[in-house]
Formats: sequence, structure tokens, C-alpha cells
Amino acid sequence: MPEETDLRFKPISYKDDFVIVPDRWKVDFMVSMGELSVFFRELKENAKLMGTRCPKCGSFYFWPRSWCHDCYEDCQWVEVSQKGSVTMFSRVDISLSDLQKEVPFYQGGVHLDGVRYPIVALIKNVTMDTLHKGMRVRAEFLPLQERTGRIRDFYFVPDV
Ligand SMILES: [Zn+2]
Repeated sequence: MPEETDLRFKPISYKDDFVIVPDRWKVDFMVSMGELSVFFRELKENAKLMGTRCPKCGSFYFWPRSWCHDCYEDCQWVEVSQKGSVTMFSRVDISLSDLQKEVPFYQGGVHLDGVRYPIVALIKNVTMDTLHKGMRVRAEFLPLQERTGRIRDFYFVPDV
């Protein structure tokens, strides 16, 4: 029995003189990561978090930026700290992504040491009772054979 939300099994409808056919697209595709290839390659192959640094003002960016938004200088690749602090957090009870099958899960702002801005990332081995603003966390990576070069190859855990 098809899901009720599967539009492929809904009847056609009419608008003015036209027939409207509900349908679904499921598209497999390949995409180049372009300038961000360094980030994904180092994540997958070497379990490193690569950010960028402005050569003029010294700002570190993670997620990496190709240029500094203060100086407009081209940034250079650098490995950034794998440790940081939680700035905010939430428990998520519904997953809308095939990449995150387990629910509930926890995500939050993680401000890596030395970088300019926090990122939003997955945080594991926590509960709403243990997770708190300012909590020290460290990156943990899937084992090499399980890493696919995608953002879910790493997550944060309490740094105890
Ligand atoms: Zn700069």
C-alpha cells in the first residue's frame, strides 16, 4: 500500500483547461564540491577539520570561506582545532534526512577554539540533562572504512 503522501498515487486534478498530474521526482546526481574539495577530502581520508585563514587579519573560518568578509582577501586552507564549546543546542525528534536515521538526536552550535563563528553540528553521547551551554566538546570521526566524505563523517562528543 503506497504512502498517502506519495503524490504518484493521487488522482489528477484540473485547473482552468489543464490537467494537473501529481508526481514525484527522485533524482540521483553527482555534484562537484569545487573549492570545498579540500574540506571533504581531508575529512574522509585524514579525519581532519579544515578551515580557512585570512592572511591579512588572521581570522580563522570554519566552515571554511574562500575569502575574508572583512578584508576581501583570499583565504588559505588550515587545519582547525577539533575542540570547542557548545553555544546553543536542541533535541530533534523528527528527522527529515536519510543521513540522520536515529531519533531523537541532539544538535547545537559548536564554537571551535580559535575560529570566528560557531557552526551547527550533531552532538552525541548527551541528553537534555547533560547538555549545556559552554560544555566542552571534541570532534569524533567515523572509522575510516565508514567515512564517505560527507558532513556526517564527524560529530561532537563531550570532551571529558
Ligand atoms: Zn581578513
